[in-house]
Amino acid sequence: NNASGNLTNDKALHLLQSVFGYPSFRGQQAEIVNHVASGGDALVLMPTGGGKSLCYQIPALVRAGVGVVVSPLIALMQDQVDALAEVGVRAAFLNSTQTFEEANRIERQVRSGELDLLYVAPERLLTPRCLELLQASNIALFAIDEAHCVSQWGHDFRPEYIKLSVLHERFPAVPRIALTATADQQTRDEIAHRLQLDDARKFVSSFDRPNIRYQIVEKANGRKQLLDFIQGEHAGDAGIVYCLSRKKVEETAELLNQNGITALPYHAGMDYKQRSNNQSRFLREDGIVMTATIAFGMGIDKPDVRFVAHLDLPKSIEGYYQETGRAGRDGAPANAWMAYGLQDVVQQRRMIDESEADESFKRVLGVKLDAMLGLCETLACRRVRLLDYFGQGSEPCGNCDTCMQPPVSFDATVAVQKLLSTIYRVDQRFGAGHVIDVLRGSETDKVRQWRHEQLSTFSVGADRSEAEWRAILRQTIALGLVTVDYEAYSALKLSDDARPVLRGAQPVQLRQYQKPVKARRESAKP
Ligand code: ADP
Ligand code: ZN
Repeated sequence: NNASGNLTNDKALHLLQSVFGYPSFRGQQAEIVNHVASGGDALVLMPTGGGKSLCYQIPALVRAGVGVVVSPLIALMQDQVDALAEVGVRAAFLNSTQTFEEANRIERQVRSGELDLLYVAPERLLTPRCLELLQASNIALFAIDEAHCVSQWGHDFRPEYIKLSVLHERFPAVPRIALTATADQQTRDEIAHRLQLDDARKFVSSFDRPNIRYQIVEKANGRKQLLDFIQGEHAGDAGIVYCLSRKKVEETAELLNQNGITALPYHAGMDYKQRSNNQSRFLREDGIVMTATIAFGMGIDKPDVRFVAHLDLPKSIEGYYQETGRAGRDGAPANAWMAYGLQDVVQQRRMIDESEADESFKRVLGVKLDAMLGLCETLACRRVRLLDYFGQGSEPCGNCDTCMQPPVSFDATVAVQKLLSTIYRVDQRFGAGHVIDVLRGSETDKVRQWRHEQLSTFSVGADRSEAEWRAILRQTIALGLVTVDYEAYSALKLSDDARPVLRGAQPVQLRQYQKPVKARRESAKP
């Protein structure tokens, strides 16, 4: 009915202006708000910073009853509720950090219709007590935030999310809106399917973050390169540095602090108090660098993060996109910088190999890693590659390293043949270091011990530096020509795909190795 539809639109815009103080909706917000406010289900894919919150907050205000927001981010609920209270929205949360009395009080408010919005952790929502409470109350809508947590293949998987299909079964008349900032096609389908949102309207925003400059550099000495990058381009800026291990998080924070950069660590092994203390300092103070594992960041809304750096390779493009997406939410220029090397490829492949997952799960992880490696090794625009992964076509951006300094590719067929035959001649029983020693003709003790100086490939690669060989090896592993056997001292082995290359039937084109260059301060004199 058109007349009531228009009334809903008017009411939504009025709330946007009078309550939230914004003049107009952004992107697809208006469409989404109107659709949900008039009772429709929605699946919303919008990049971080796109403005997802208003997509359920305003419909919750337009409709009668309380809007129930399911979110895994317990640590942020207090902040969200406080922010809403500031503009006069009656919001509260239910989670495990509360006392029984507090929870009781909130439950009474829900029952008597005194709240506009209620944030609930999924495990709490699924308790019989909470479901009964909701059934006895008037519900405006269900918003399922961070909906990608339902995906078993993703890195934020939460088993309770799968059970959220109960909402559809027990509250068939209440509209549901699922929201996420990360969704390749597979995750998208999984969300729709598992949350029984197959018939929901899908709203897919552009995933491009034009103000973010993507850079992926060859790793030589990662931490030194990081230091140069921060000192050269981001002195005094707030930023996030992601590392794989807790130990590396601590060490990196220490290194930065020793060099006059205020850095705080964050990982799941720290006690809760220390962690949340560091988080709130990062949010409130200026120019703090957070060194963290991926445990940090989901739901963090700090607009002026000027850079996100990765010292280790993320497991997937979704992860990379989500983490880098925390930079530049204010729209001003920001950097996504990553140092990437042979060890990263080896390490990530090993983690998949050694994980407890079953074979089909490992295959999916492998495919995701390959896509990530493809992004690192690409000779084309990073952004084109990134957006393509999310099913979005685009033109070369002019604001990434490969656009600004196009990498040189070269016919590496002969070099790769030398590498592959050396691996073969050492019986596929040695790791990267030794293979490169043989190639370069280094007469180490180990080489002599195994008489590898007598091999026909000994020193056939003396014309290239060790770093160059590592770059070539890294790419052959990324291409799947060489595998690493973790059960046998990380020995390099040839895959079936190596055969046509060795026979000369398959040329190989690789990225030319580029010596790392020191980042320069833009204002520095030549
Ligand atoms: P997301 O959850 O998608 O990452 P948020 O909902 O946190 O994004 O919104 C990101 C920022 O954009 C917030 O600071 C929010 O207040 C602001 N914002 C959202 N919608 C609008 C709008 N229509 N006009 C102006 N600012 C907006
Ligand atoms: Zn580009």
